[in-house]
Amino acid sequence: AAKRAGGAHFVFYEPHMSARAKEQLELQRDLRQALTRDGELELHYQPKISARDGSLTGVEALTRWRHPERGQLGPGIFIPVAERFGLINALGAWVIEQACIQAVAWRDQGQPLAVAVNLSVHQLRQADLAERTAELLAKHGLDPALLSFEVTESVAMEDTGHTLRVFEQLGEIGIQLSIDDFGTGYSSLSYLRQLDADQLKIDQSFVRDLEHSADARAIVQAVVSLAHALGLSVIAEGVETEGQRDILSALGCDELQGYFYARPMPASALEDWRQNRSTPAPRDADLPH
Ligand code: C2E
Ligand code: MG
Ligand code: MG
Ligand code: MG
Repeated sequence: AAKRAGGAHFVFYEPHMSARAKEQLELQRDLRQALTRDGELELHYQPKISARDGSLTGVEALTRWRHPERGQLGPGIFIPVAERFGLINALGAWVIEQACIQAVAWRDQGQPLAVAVNLSVHQLRQADLAERTAELLAKHGLDPALLSFEVTESVAMEDTGHTLRVFEQLGEIGIQLSIDDFGTGYSSLSYLRQLDADQLKIDQSFVRDLEHSADARAIVQAVVSLAHALGLSVIAEGVETEGQRDILSALGCDELQGYFYARPMPASALEDWRQNRSTPAPRDADLPH
């Protein structure tokens, strides 16, 4: 319609585009500042739960930005800005280092917890990602078993020669690798076999449909079989209901993550959550009458 309207295309569409472009420019300026200041950017942590025994197996770090005027912004807003304006490697390095610092803090509290960090395509393309990561681990004295990376399936399947090498290098330094949003890309099975990953993470779109769709159940079942046959573990993301949990457990999923268990939360809230969870609920006899 905009095209047919000719002139109207210019009048109607252009102001919208420039408002958006202006906003993106403002966000990139603010993000640049946020990267040099303390306290605006923050990692929230979402628990990963063992399907077998309900224990906490690790957390995924998800970045939040407390913008001074706009309030809390999610990664869907600022990651694309960071990618577009060349800030993603700086932001990504900050995220990895924060995750290391937090993992060291938890370890030193006697409550070690593995932290998974999401990688952008640009980070994966850095020739020295493994080297830089090894340096960070050494700098903070962190065991690589306490850090892992998540790379989306679509990113992992691009530039496959390079990705194979980077995964191999990361594997050599002991970093676990998950293929995020699995099922939404186009993995070739032979490539998947070559790729040195440790885990497939089933995309939440399949989890959402599990209770009502035999197709979604069939897909999850196939992914679990494939993963296990290749020696990979499987985690499902976006688990919101008891029904989904039951189906995923019955289908042999190893780990579960989602609002059903907990939302992503700041480190201190996660510590409280963990504490409350490990304190057994009082039995009736212990309750005041
Ligand atoms: P993801 O890695 O697939 O993370 C899962 C997203 O689903 C997160 O959204 C999480 O908050 C949300 N989620 C978790 N459980 C549930 C649930 O039960 N139901 C629903 N509906 N959603 C759930 P978030 O935090 O907005 O992150 C979105 C995406 O942004 C992430 O997807 C990840 O790809 C990316 N991202 C987040 N932090 C970073 C980062 O530090 N660096 C990079 N490069 N990307 C990041
Ligand atoms: Mg992820
Ligand atoms: Mg995901
Ligand atoms: Mg996802």
